[in-house]
Amino acid sequence: MHPLPLTTRPSSSSLPQRVLLVENSRAYMQVVAQAIEQQLELPVTVATTLAEARAELDSHDDWFMVLTGLVLADGDRDTVVDCFLRRGLPTVVVSGVYDEDLRVRMLRRQIIDFVLKSTPGSLDYIVWLVQRLERNRRISALVVDDSTSARMHASILLEMFGYRVVQADGGEAALAAIEADPTIRLAVVDQEMPGMQGIELTRRLRALRARDRVAVIGVSGRDDPGLVAHFLKNGANDFLRKPYSREEFFCRVSQNVDQLELIGSLQDLATRDFLTGLPNRRHFLEQAERLVPKLQEAGEPVAAAMIDIDHFKHINDSWGHETGDFALRAAAQAVSGHARRQDQIARFGGEEFCLLVPGLDEAELDAYFDTLRRRIEDLRVPVRGGELKMTVSIGVCPAESGDSLHRLLSEADRRLYLAKAGGRNQVVAAG
Ligand code: GH3
Ligand code: MG
Ligand code: MG
Ligand code: MG
Repeated sequence: MHPLPLTTRPSSSSLPQRVLLVENSRAYMQVVAQAIEQQLELPVTVATTLAEARAELDSHDDWFMVLTGLVLADGDRDTVVDCFLRRGLPTVVVSGVYDEDLRVRMLRRQIIDFVLKSTPGSLDYIVWLVQRLERNRRISALVVDDSTSARMHASILLEMFGYRVVQADGGEAALAAIEADPTIRLAVVDQEMPGMQGIELTRRLRALRARDRVAVIGVSGRDDPGLVAHFLKNGANDFLRKPYSREEFFCRVSQNVDQLELIGSLQDLATRDFLTGLPNRRHFLEQAERLVPKLQEAGEPVAAAMIDIDHFKHINDSWGHETGDFALRAAAQAVSGHARRQDQIARFGGEEFCLLVPGLDEAELDAYFDTLRRRIEDLRVPVRGGELKMTVSIGVCPAESGDSLHRLLSEADRRLYLAKAGGRNQVVAAG
């Protein structure tokens, strides 16, 4: 179907969501828990001692990560950290004491990060970090290196930060992986490889995926001042010199993925309708303007359809505007659930949707749209104190040779009004 943007969190995610917050200061605990619950909508469980933390860990099985202080009544620093690491939980240490030795000693363990409470902005950083780790789980990262140990090193770090990792030992394997897996959004590419070098790989990768689709971070251990610029000019988003520290690696990777998401959400703002998440009218028209002539030239059938919810004003009037919005989203979901991959859909305006459907003959179109009509008729939208039902009228116009998008849409619109005049809850597919 229509792939969800990177920034959208599926509501029925099967990934564990629960954050354990272990902290002896109740005041600080409350501030952090509230920030995570309110800004990220993740469930937070709190514990003030190690014993409480253990009991909580045993009583749920949907743990996503742990944020822990180091000063607890019933355990020293190492016992605390080990307790969570041994259970394989991503662990972030939030410390009240600044002690460089402690920080270095802690970072030698497999913790994600060491955050100092007193640093200005540390609360925002914690919220950002939790969100980053949460989202990373839906992102695949590709590690390309001919050296097994270097590949493993980067892979282990990325896995620690929650990414799904795909490995490739050379350029050809990397390109094949990129082509096969659209969830890859990040590639860490070594320069010195036999066969295809990293810069050449980056250049070829760019022919497959743009900079806002896959972030490429070049890496090299060579001390060559021209190399960085060469990587960047060939399409890399960033560069890291080997050997890099875990903190540096995490910062660079996160910054690049943040940027992809930011671009993604800007693109969404421009191309998607806010209420329903469907492509908006302008985006639909842009796509369809290109698609219709192509299909016409290839002699492929294509049809446009306008769909309008019947008596929607009545739904608003009897249930309220907010419920109207809810119904509109349900209808939008039904339309997008019905559409095939090759169909273009949009919320055209108000309670109207449109579809551009290639490849179906007239009989198939009748079946396609009548099924959609019934699908919406069969919806039972749960509302306060009952169920809401709705119907739609649909006007369909199959293209004749030479038809423009404009003519298809205005004819579909005319037929929609015939469907309304004919009694609504019906499809009109002929003039
Ligand atoms: P018909 O069967 O002839 O299409 O009747 P209708 O009531 O659906 O058509 P009309 O064009 O008279 O009214 C459409 C209504 O849809 C009016 C408008 O307030 C409502 N509407 C448009 N956009 C939204 C929206 O985003 N949310 C809600 N709740 N209502 C909307
Ligand atoms: Mg190498
Ligand atoms: Mg209507
Ligand atoms: Mg209307």
